[in-house]
Amino acid sequence: MAPNDAVLAPFRKQGHDHGKCVRDALTAAEQVCAREGASLTPLRRRVLELVWGAHAPVRAYDLLDTLRGERRRAAPPTIYRALDFLLSVRLIHRIESLNAFVGCADPKHSHGGQFLICDGCGAVAELDDPTIARRVADRARALGFTPRRQTIEISGRCPDCAADG
Ligand SMILES: [Zn+2]
Ligand SMILES: [Zn+2]
Ligand SMILES: [Zn+2]
Repeated sequence: MAPNDAVLAPFRKQGHDHGKCVRDALTAAEQVCAREGASLTPLRRRVLELVWGAHAPVRAYDLLDTLRGERRRAAPPTIYRALDFLLSVRLIHRIESLNAFVGCADPKHSHGGQFLICDGCGAVAELDDPTIARRVADRARALGFTPRRQTIEISGRCPDCAADG
């Protein structure tokens, strides 16, 4: 596999057609839910749309703030249930180091992943490089460890922030 095939989501330029990103994500979500026999309720759909607000991790309480302005009954358990659902059908990923969520760029295929997270602007790129994943899993197994789920989070600077110094 060529290295670029492993890129699920590159860093996006300012001014790209983000509306299209969101529309594509919602279309993919409908397909994934149909395939899994799961229901993308209006609330789940709205939470997914909010997670896709930018290509950067979103925290649950930020979602709650937005939803409280829209729905009077939005309470933390409502948001957490919706996020749990979206995680279970792999439409979003949890970024553990930030306790936040990003939309998955390729929800139709189950994958682990490597996330590049900018500490300047919060932008996230998503890789799914099987060479990296296999190497980590092999090292784990050599220690008698059975890997279940593998997510690698790397912090640093995105191209825009690196250019700004
Ligand atoms: Zn976008
Ligand atoms: Zn993904
Ligand atoms: Zn950045």
